[in-house]
Amino acid sequence: MTPTIRTVLGDLDPAELGATDSHDHLFIRSPLLPGEELDDPAAAEGVLRAFAAAGGRSFVQWTPYGMGRGADSLAELSRVTGVHVVAATGLHQAAHYDPDTLRALYDGLAERFIVELTTGLTAEPATEPPGPPGPPAAPEAPEAPASPEAVRAGLIKVACDPGTTTAHTRQVMAAAADAHHATGAPIAVHLEPRAHPHLVLNRLHVRHGVPPHRIILGHLTRLPDVRVHRELAAEGVYFALDSPSRAGHPADHQAFDVIADLVEAGHASRLLLGADTTTRTARQADGPTKLLNDLVPRLARTFGPELPGLLLTANPAAAFATDWRTP
Ligand SMILES: [Zn+2]
Repeated sequence: MTPTIRTVLGDLDPAELGATDSHDHLFIRSPLLPGEELDDPAAAEGVLRAFAAAGGRSFVQWTPYGMGRGADSLAELSRVTGVHVVAATGLHQAAHYDPDTLRALYDGLAERFIVELTTGLTAEPATEPPGPPGPPAAPEAPEAPASPEAVRAGLIKVACDPGTTTAHTRQVMAAAADAHHATGAPIAVHLEPRAHPHLVLNRLHVRHGVPPHRIILGHLTRLPDVRVHRELAAEGVYFALDSPSRAGHPADHQAFDVIADLVEAGHASRLLLGADTTTRTARQADGPTKLLNDLVPRLARTFGPELPGLLLTANPAAAFATDWRTP
């Protein structure tokens, strides 16, 4: 078996991946961010075209189940723009979902993740139409594909909690680990600024047996503790260092220093880059393009011309490539 990267148009030879935005969103919605939905295929096409014009070749979307992944649009967008797109299964924190929808999802959660990784993304519950509240939308059975064209997920997205670990997160992480063991898929983790990432590693790796090199931690630039970064890198996890889309966010200024510290500590092979555009406001910052036109030239000037290729191409090719199994 040769490891491949599972894109929305099929499995890709990692050598074909090219410059990659390793953590971003073309489509996402959450009740926590009203009015900030990314739900417009034409706007998503504009993002991919600008990214491609700047030299981008691959775009990894970390939007999990139930948050408006644009499952019906991703394949066509990849086809018309020529950008490889990777989609996600998984679940975010409970706060992003209707509670009744969530309760109906827990039973068979790992099976849903596995179906989405091996057969195709499943239909998401419809968003609440304006008007009197009706019965909550029940999730479709995992057998029901979202669109006639099977678009498979290439990674599992999960999240840790802002405070102590909730029952929701314990169930989601257990299901993600089950789906990893069944398919080989990498697991991408949304970290909270005050969370302790070692707890995530303990849960996924120590408790559930997911190898560290199959875990990608997001948002570490929001947690500016270089000692913790170095410890985690030494364990072998990948970091998706995001922020260029967050103009004015402290993480935007910290990203370069975090990268510099890890490179100097010998951990360049663990680093991926992403713009993590989650809102309409953030999209105005042109994060995926800025990643290539701003952050990457700065890295090349400081660390030499090889480093951008490592962070943008070689590392994501290794982090997302999988010996795919079908249970
Ligand atoms: Zn994200």
